[in-house]
Amino acid sequence: MGQPEKETIIAEMIRSAEEILQWAKAHPTCTLRELEERIQQWKTRMGTQLLEATVATQGTGRWAEGTCACGGQWVFEGYRGREVMTSQGVIRVKRAYFTCERCGQGFFPPGPTERDSGGLE
Ligand SMILES: [Zn+2]
Repeated sequence: MGQPEKETIIAEMIRSAEEILQWAKAHPTCTLRELEERIQQWKTRMGTQLLEATVATQGTGRWAEGTCACGGQWVFEGYRGREVMTSQGVIRVKRAYFTCERCGQGFFPPGPTERDSGGLE
């Protein structure tokens, strides 16, 4: 799954906001609670997409160099998608992935030692 383009995200924000306005207009007797729920869903969806896109602009960590706790060198293995739980929900990011030449431990620099979970930092 590729990262969404800037124009796509902005267009989707406008389109979905207009959709909420249209819905509200078509449902003049809806409750404040119903409107709140729709806005909350919109914020969550937009927040996730915008966070994914902004994280993507930060690069993939390919620059990282370092050594494993065991003393072995990190070897670049390629790029991997990974899911990260954030305050905006689960986002998918592409990160450079390294393994230790000695013990095989996997890393997503510059993060802490980890195999397949954890955050970006
Ligand atoms: Zn190691």
